[in-house]
Amino acid sequence: MRQPFPRLLLLAASTAATFVAGAQEAVRLPDLGSSANALISPREAEDYGAQMLRQMHALDLTLDDALLDQYINDLGFRLVAASDRPKDHFQFFIVRDTQINAFAAPGGYIGVNAGLINITQSESELAGVIAHEIGHITQNHLYRAFEASKKDAPLLALVLLGAIAAGSAGGDAAAGVLMGGQGLLLQRQINFTRKDEIEADRVGIQTLANSGFDPEAMADFFGRMQDTLRVGEGEDALPALLQTHPVTLDRISDARARARVLEDRLKDRPKLPTLDKASWEKSTAPVLFVKDPTTLVSTGNAAPKDSAGDTYALMRERVRVLSGDAGKLASYYATNLKHKDFDTGANRYGYAVALIRTNHGSQAIEQLQPLLTSRPDSVVLRLAMADAYMDAGRSGDAMAIYKALHANSPRNVAVALGYAKALAVQGSRESAQQAASLLRPMLDNSDDPEIFRTYAQATERAGDSIRSAEAYANSAYLSGRPFDAMEQLRRLLKRDDLDFYQRSRIQAQIADLTPLLLELRKRRVATDDNPDGRSQQ
Ligand SMILES: [Zn+2]
Repeated sequence: MRQPFPRLLLLAASTAATFVAGAQEAVRLPDLGSSANALISPREAEDYGAQMLRQMHALDLTLDDALLDQYINDLGFRLVAASDRPKDHFQFFIVRDTQINAFAAPGGYIGVNAGLINITQSESELAGVIAHEIGHITQNHLYRAFEASKKDAPLLALVLLGAIAAGSAGGDAAAGVLMGGQGLLLQRQINFTRKDEIEADRVGIQTLANSGFDPEAMADFFGRMQDTLRVGEGEDALPALLQTHPVTLDRISDARARARVLEDRLKDRPKLPTLDKASWEKSTAPVLFVKDPTTLVSTGNAAPKDSAGDTYALMRERVRVLSGDAGKLASYYATNLKHKDFDTGANRYGYAVALIRTNHGSQAIEQLQPLLTSRPDSVVLRLAMADAYMDAGRSGDAMAIYKALHANSPRNVAVALGYAKALAVQGSRESAQQAASLLRPMLDNSDDPEIFRTYAQATERAGDSIRSAEAYANSAYLSGRPFDAMEQLRRLLKRDDLDFYQRSRIQAQIADLTPLLLELRKRRVATDDNPDGRSQQ
């Protein structure tokens, strides 16, 4: 942890400082484009998007899970590599929201709601929606939308900060406030012209095909949603995605026709996407587009049930469990698994994750054993088994799995995190030191509170109480408890055994955090540690 606080805080706070500085006069806002001709620079756009995501993390609106984070970014970058702008900055994340929606924010930040992932029926469908959003970014639609209505720019800046006045709304929960903000961001997307939407479809379908997905999936998905809608409860039930992306029969048949042309072309000219990012090199080995994937491997009769080998299917169930009520989902799986059609590897995995989340580790082990027998190399299944062992109190068995996985992929965050937790349970000073050194390299680029919390526990056991206290403060901040974080830092500063560097580091963190707290208080934004937005701390 060379940085006193994750980059997150520094940026958020520096922008908050802009507000505070201008508090007496009109609120001063970051410049969205200085002259009529100048669009915001890519760097500025990236800062805006980054701020939005950081605020969402801090307000617990994102699904923070190392495995899912890796999955959605692998998928996203496989598409980016096949897009017009393979070298641009992108970051993908999952929003903890059951609404069916996805959105693109400045700087290549693309959020996909848990609700959307849950209703997709294939990875190509999910990829289709993401490819469409990537299209909005590569075609500069967001800049154009900014430019089109500059008068709304201040509002947008507030939205991106997640700092929309909660006071006037009468103390809404922070989540509601920011979701409202996101809604505003989406209205911005409504303002994408019809031409923009068609263009995003067009380049999205091209990207889909280039990266080996089924180019018809986008049309399938929108078509299926429209069918659902016809039998649904009417306008009120209109999914958010359709409000911003109205589906017309024209659009569906356009997309289909375009996909068919591409399919014909691809038959003659198979093209591999260029992969240029280490993290997805391995896991996203390009597969040429084939109409029927089962022709690639001889699978036999068991094929449809073998979804345990399909990372997408496993991750979709993981999203379902982590974004929902694990207890209810455990009964959902238990009941439905009695039906033959439902009894797939992915659903068994989902059941196991729900069991682990509800502390039924031994039952989870029973579910996972047969899956692992048929897929002994699956990292996802092995990690689940290790989780189940941990929950069942068998940390030695879990440790054996982590040790082996870590030897193969030392940079895998999900593996390092699990391994560190298992080491911490061992209780010895040496194992705590080992856990801390496993996690230290992961801290710089992380905004996952769990990593900081685990690191804090490890350094505490290893006897480094100052590092530990700083990490606990980080974890509090990243879990949406900035007031707690401040309290912890102030307490830490009172210690009389700090050396000069430790003292200055902590003072710097307090200075970073102060403007943000002032801003939250002024706007009465509710946080977990300040539910009515009225803390006087
Ligand atoms: Zn769109």
